[in-house]
Amino acid sequence: MQRIAPRQDVALMKGYHSPQVEVKVRLNTNESPYPVPLGWKQALAQQIEKIEFNRYPDRSALQLRSAIAQLHGVEANQVLCANGSNEILQSILLAFGGASRTALVFEPTYALHSHIAHITQTNVAIAQRDENFSIDLDSLAQEIQKAQPSVSFFCSPNNPTGMVDSPQVLELALKQNTGLTVVDEAYGQFSSFSVLSLLDEELPLVVVRTFSKTWSMAASRLGYMVAPSWVVQACESVMLPYHLDALKQQAGILALKFHDEMQQRVAELVDQRDLLFEKLKEFDLQIWPSEANFILFRPLKMSGPKLWEELLKRSILVRDCSSWPRLDNCLRVTVGTPQENDIFIQALQEVLNE
Ligand SMILES: *Cc1c(COP(=O)(O)O)cnc(C)c1O
Repeated sequence: MQRIAPRQDVALMKGYHSPQVEVKVRLNTNESPYPVPLGWKQALAQQIEKIEFNRYPDRSALQLRSAIAQLHGVEANQVLCANGSNEILQSILLAFGGASRTALVFEPTYALHSHIAHITQTNVAIAQRDENFSIDLDSLAQEIQKAQPSVSFFCSPNNPTGMVDSPQVLELALKQNTGLTVVDEAYGQFSSFSVLSLLDEELPLVVVRTFSKTWSMAASRLGYMVAPSWVVQACESVMLPYHLDALKQQAGILALKFHDEMQQRVAELVDQRDLLFEKLKEFDLQIWPSEANFILFRPLKMSGPKLWEELLKRSILVRDCSSWPRLDNCLRVTVGTPQENDIFIQALQEVLNE
């Protein structure tokens, strides 16, 4: 049999993987270190008994959308849910990107924005953040002018740098842009600024959020967009039918009933992040201030990959970002529990100072 070759561009793709290694301290994928509230699990178990598994789920996921809409003070038709925010990003590019259209990204940033653009055969225009990893206003206007993007991706706080894009950046992007301005706020709740308040039916602004990070629900694979209803409608039209299973819909609806507990976890992580930042300052590292649940840093007296390896030997897994654009030698550590953070700091002490 002759094997059939995949699309040529797909054959060259590497896929997107973060190593899944068994370790004691896992600080590499920005998950919450805290389990979901016990009450949520119990309530979900009760709901499972009621699910009619022989029937397709509610295709529009209306109850879940309404609950999320209520949380953000918008209408249900301005919310779209999906299997993780990555599926949301994909639907945006399927509906608004594609061949002969362009997506604009500002590196260094979340790799999936350009990765999914490639998969959907959307051209990718790569612009650069300045030396502090901020987006310069003059270059922003120029890049949009030059690329004429159908979709511009922002990530605020930005993964992996941890910094938020200023309101000025996003306002200018909206003013200059003839396409969609997509703000990936996967870490929005850890930061003091969100563009959600700008949302308007007449503004081509899309805000993307996820239950994976702040809501301790990475295993559930649930994300959503808040956007004008005409954007929601277009993205919905490229989703597969019944893509959101009944169990996931219930999981999301119930999670919103535990909003206060979830917020407590966020507040705790923000405190821990600030503490971890202070401790990192005591080492020979370049560190970037973060408004997310992770911190980017670069060892100054050892190579990044070497430090990554030394940490792994001690059963601590962080993210090696050293092969990402402009992040040579950089590592990214997710904020863990106080105990996990201590173990990480202790290991740094051993590796860097002894
Ligand atoms: C983790 C992350 C996501 C999330 O993905 P899910 O598919 O919702 O788990 C999206 N955007 C950014 C910037 C992320 O870091």
